[in-house]
Amino acid sequence: MEYEPVIGLEVHVQLETRTKVFCGCLTDFGAEPNTQVCPVCLGFPGSLPVLNKTALEYSIKVGLALNCAIQGFTKFDRKHYYYPDLPKNIQISQYDLPIAKDGYLDIGVNGQTKRIGIRRAHLEEDAGKLIHRGNASLVDYNRTGQPLLEIVSEPDISAPEEAYEYLTDLKSVVEYLDVSDCDMEKGSLRCDANISVRPRGTKELGTKSEIKNLNSFKAVRDALQYEINRHLELKAAGEQIVQETRLWDEKETKTLSMRSKEEAKDYRYFPEPDLPPFTIDKSRIGEIRKTIPELPKEKMRRFMKDYGLTLYDARLLVISKNTSLYAEERLKAFPSKDKKPVANWLIGPMAQEANSRNKELADIPVSPAALNEIIGLVESGQISNLAAKTVLTEMIDSGKNAGTIVREKNLVQISDESALATEMEAVIKENPKVVGDFKAGKENSIMFLVGQVMKRTKGKANPKIVRDMLKRRLTDA
Ligand code: ADP
Ligand code: MG
Ligand code: ZN
Repeated sequence: MEYEPVIGLEVHVQLETRTKVFCGCLTDFGAEPNTQVCPVCLGFPGSLPVLNKTALEYSIKVGLALNCAIQGFTKFDRKHYYYPDLPKNIQISQYDLPIAKDGYLDIGVNGQTKRIGIRRAHLEEDAGKLIHRGNASLVDYNRTGQPLLEIVSEPDISAPEEAYEYLTDLKSVVEYLDVSDCDMEKGSLRCDANISVRPRGTKELGTKSEIKNLNSFKAVRDALQYEINRHLELKAAGEQIVQETRLWDEKETKTLSMRSKEEAKDYRYFPEPDLPPFTIDKSRIGEIRKTIPELPKEKMRRFMKDYGLTLYDARLLVISKNTSLYAEERLKAFPSKDKKPVANWLIGPMAQEANSRNKELADIPVSPAALNEIIGLVESGQISNLAAKTVLTEMIDSGKNAGTIVREKNLVQISDESALATEMEAVIKENPKVVGDFKAGKENSIMFLVGQVMKRTKGKANPKIVRDMLKRRLTDA
């Protein structure tokens, strides 16, 4: 029988509010352990929570951006579980009336749009952090009570690659909204992945496993692939799949069973008595809707329309908000109507510089004018593409302008045929076999000869002119 994977993701986004969700403690990252705590977030008897208005507004904002319906009447609920980093032994969360529900996110799959349903997004408080040192475990309650928005997808995802796309796009949307830094390394974005398999074409869901401890989108993709294979092997062997929570072991690249999965009834949810239910008026929702900026998909379409970019280029340039702002500034400033060279530079050499320096593209200090200068030098044939990359690297390192670098490093391209003739003759003499190949009809072998001339001129020869010269010289002879 042929099976298909079924995947649903639960994403926790830490909302970037100044204070915690139910008390006034600060949420600064990296503060001394247990310095941002108070009786409320430590769960002392008699202390009372008060909802952070900004956390509520941020949640609504995300809900709207994900095309969800916002609950007019909502409440919080207590979820009971015992864990050393949860001092109250309850977590304030939302059960049956999440702030947002029934939305969707459109993702690209093989050049087509696929709609992934968003079942719900609810607001809850974070737990603390356990730090294990040798035989001891320490607990830091600074994170306890920080606002988390849990975004739960429908099981509409059919492959690990789709999960990766969904997470990339979801992160991008949340980043654009300025409600979270979405930094997985800091734990501001966390994902649990649910997976099952079912006979292809059937509707009923199979028994799922839930994978935790996923520290990157790549880990989500790899863990899902591992888990799909494990399910398929169990099916093939005629064995039962048990519902359980599994941990991803990054080093061993495999999942390990952690516990059999608890169900909603195990949590003994009941309405949080210390926070009364409340209504969210339509006018308030309307005001929040107005604060939603142009989102990545819209920006992508606009980049294609305004700057003539391809879908591929536009998508790469809008995923990160900072990148999109940086890119647009440079696209706008480019004097010609055809913006392709700018997109090529941003996605190619500049992105490579950013990567090799472990930086974001937006942190690369090349002004719009400086980029125009480099592109201008290439387009007018004054420097080769190769030399232009040297100019770029040097410009980032030294802050000098392109003209100065070209002069100092003597990078001006040699386009003068008489200046290139000697080198060409030498190359022809040294490579009789390749010359013979070319004359015998192997046209591509000319590129080897061009390469040799480039080498002799330390990359300064104009390759197009060299190629033309060689062609003429070898066809005439
Ligand atoms: P739980 O209450 O155990 O957390 P939910 O039904 O709330 O489970 O679903 C949690 C996530 O798991 C959702 O993203 C949902 O789409 C996904 N999911 C639920 N059932 C399955 C299944 N059988 N296979 C794959 N994913 C599933
Ligand atoms: Mg769950
Ligand atoms: Zn507190």
